[in-house]
Amino acid sequence: MKNQIAIIGAGLGGLMLARVLYRHGVAATIYESDASPEARSQGGMLDIHDFNGQLAIKDAGLYDEFQKLIHPGGQQTRVLDRHGSVLMDTPDDGTGGRPEVQRGELRRILLESLPPNSVQWGSKLLTATRLGAGIHELTFANGRKVIVNLVVGADGAWSKVRPLISDAQPTYAGTTFIETWLLDADVRHKASAAAVGGGGMFALAPGKGIMAHREPDGVLHAYVALNRTRQWIQRIDFDDAQSAKATIAAEFADWTPALTDLITQSDTTPVARILHQLPDDHRWSRLPGVTLIGDAAHLMIPSGEGANLAMYDGAELGKAIAASPNELEHALQSYENELFPRSTAAAKEAAALANLMFAHDTPQSLLRMFRGD
Ligand SMILES: Cc1cc2nc3c(=O)[nH]c(=O)nc-3n(C[C@H](O)[C@H](O)[C@H](O)COP(=O)(O)OP(=O)(O)OC[C@H]3O[C@@H](n4cnc5c(N)ncnc54)[C@H](O)[C@@H]3O)c2cc1C
Repeated sequence: MKNQIAIIGAGLGGLMLARVLYRHGVAATIYESDASPEARSQGGMLDIHDFNGQLAIKDAGLYDEFQKLIHPGGQQTRVLDRHGSVLMDTPDDGTGGRPEVQRGELRRILLESLPPNSVQWGSKLLTATRLGAGIHELTFANGRKVIVNLVVGADGAWSKVRPLISDAQPTYAGTTFIETWLLDADVRHKASAAAVGGGGMFALAPGKGIMAHREPDGVLHAYVALNRTRQWIQRIDFDDAQSAKATIAAEFADWTPALTDLITQSDTTPVARILHQLPDDHRWSRLPGVTLIGDAAHLMIPSGEGANLAMYDGAELGKAIAASPNELEHALQSYENELFPRSTAAAKEAAALANLMFAHDTPQSLLRMFRGD
């Protein structure tokens, strides 16, 4: 049978895999549950690292397009205390190796680099059934069924492909990020805009913090971190924006308004991102015709690496398949041999970073990390 490759999920990982395969003349189809590329806001900035995400973008042949997306000044990093005093301020001199781009724009250049109909939108995978000899039957919510000899789970945290090869289930990481946005902030929220500065800002206390990024057009995008139980978070009525903002802001009662306005003045209803993770050492035994990339393989607490790793996985798997298109098992084995130690190291680092950020001696612990002590 000619290779029939199905990639489940058109996130950055799945798109990168399809693009690298396409560059090497290997056909693949992406099945994505969203109805269209515009179905969901892809908002938010990502810093793309020169040691993983950027390497993948080079493998995709999209480095020039990527450079046009870079948000100038986005690598500025500052640490504030709860009064708004600046404890550290590192300017963006363009040499940080982790320039920032908008996730939606990065996704767009990947999508535009694929031939028409590479992505089958509105195709939510329900089940993948092993038929033997590496062949799988995929059943989609729209009634469609396809038979493939390679299925790649690029379908994120709650992957429907993962159960084919692993019993692991994501568990609550103990931290929730509450996402808010302030629009036109240089005009409407001057104190918060000044506090955030030109790039990323961290204001941390034990077990909690306010982190924000400046995005193009004067937008401030904040993640309010709370080490609270899932039940505590779920008691907040997020349908009532004012009461949700008040409950969250009460956790920061003695903080400067320049910081708490990032909660109370949000132009959008706060959204809770209840963070989940897979075990640090998540891995599986090789089974023919199936593998995972990105969050499906190694969901971890956000550390600024997840999207970079997803793209890197996609590019590495694409190159491995292109190098041995007639020996898929060999390609998957060599990809996974590198994937497992890479993911475990990144997951351990992510957990250590989260511990350090919300430790009893934060923000000193964070400042020591930035200084390299
Ligand atoms: C609050 C927060 C902040 C973050 N910040 C950063 C950051 O600053 N930098 C960074 O590098 N990473 C960050 N991450 C992590 C990053 O978002 C993920 O690691 C990354 O998106 C993983 O990419 P992916 O392609 O593996 O999966 P996803 O981006 O989750 O894409 C999966 C795709 O699969 C589709 N899908 C899901 N189920 C199905 C199905 N059954 N059938 C068909 N399609 C399906 C989804 O619709 C989606 O399009 C953050 C994560 C969170 C939660």
